[in-house]
Amino acid sequence: MLDTLTIRTQRTTASRLQQLDPERLEFGKTFSDHMFVVDYRDGEWQDAQIVPYGDMPVSPANSALHYGQSIFEGMKAYKNTDGDIALFRPYDNFRRFNASAERMCMPLIPEELFMQGLSQLIRVDNAWVPDAAGSALYIRPFMFATDGFLGVRPSESYRFVIITCPVGLYYNKPLRVRFEERYVRSAEGGAGYAKNAGNYGAAMYPTKLAQQEGYNQLIWTDASEHRYVEESGTMNAIFVVDGKVVTPALSTSILDGVTRRSVLDLARDWGMPVEERKVSAVELMEALAAGKLEEAFGVGTAATIAPIAVVGYQGQDYELPTPGTNSFSTRATTALHAIRTGQAPDTHNWMVA
Ligand code: PMP
Repeated sequence: MLDTLTIRTQRTTASRLQQLDPERLEFGKTFSDHMFVVDYRDGEWQDAQIVPYGDMPVSPANSALHYGQSIFEGMKAYKNTDGDIALFRPYDNFRRFNASAERMCMPLIPEELFMQGLSQLIRVDNAWVPDAAGSALYIRPFMFATDGFLGVRPSESYRFVIITCPVGLYYNKPLRVRFEERYVRSAEGGAGYAKNAGNYGAAMYPTKLAQQEGYNQLIWTDASEHRYVEESGTMNAIFVVDGKVVTPALSTSILDGVTRRSVLDLARDWGMPVEERKVSAVELMEALAAGKLEEAFGVGTAATIAPIAVVGYQGQDYELPTPGTNSFSTRATTALHAIRTGQAPDTHNWMVA
């Protein structure tokens, strides 16, 4: 294990940085010059290296392609107003990555390897961290099976990789969502709490159907009754009902979002009551009718906070109130931005340089 921390670095001789247009940073299209790669073989992580970003050959029989032994994370590094770079809650992503690995019968990654790979990669590609307001370096750690073997059993070898891409200000167009009452993203006892590739592939079809009907994404509901809110697209869902911050309690079917956790911490800091419990569609629609549903929004790394403007329920669309400057979601967005850019004290020690 120890020699994995000697990370060999092979720098590119053809940086693409000059071609980058900071005004036009499209999510997930342009990748920084380097990537971190480490292989798991013979029960050990070995050959940690930083190499130029590029394609990787894989066996056509690898179990990630056939059986979905593939997991990932999503996190961001921010440049503060002094030009220093810091990661937002990377240990939370690290822990969730290993929770996903365990669920998918994949080897755990040691904390030092994950954190060293991350920080050395960002050091090498520090010029790729954008500094315009609202921009960040999106970081995608992932791991996949590499055995060339078609049997259905956990692979014995794996590759862990980190790639990064600069992203611009995420424009939070108010969302049109609808409660999903037929398909499910995940079920109790399934793998919804993990970030395994298959969860995302299986969500594409129901999401496409909703998009064809003019919605941006779905509000996933529970697998047995389609009654309780699970998540909103690939975000956690939070509501403000009658002055209280209400959100579905975590379970094996819900991803434990880092943004969700942070927004709930801010609510508690500000003395607001926070309820993590079952939240039914009926409860929300009744609160809306009674004028008590004050806010509804999705929370996640990509958007931070995305307000929900319209919700479809049993064939009808309902408009939600527009969040004002004093709304909880607006204040939480501003507070998170200020902490990430060093303009407000980081009282929870969320930023890691
Ligand atoms: N739910 C799902 C299914 C997601 O993919 C994500 C994005 N990681 C989230 C919620 C939000 O999690 P986070 O705040 O950690 O990005």
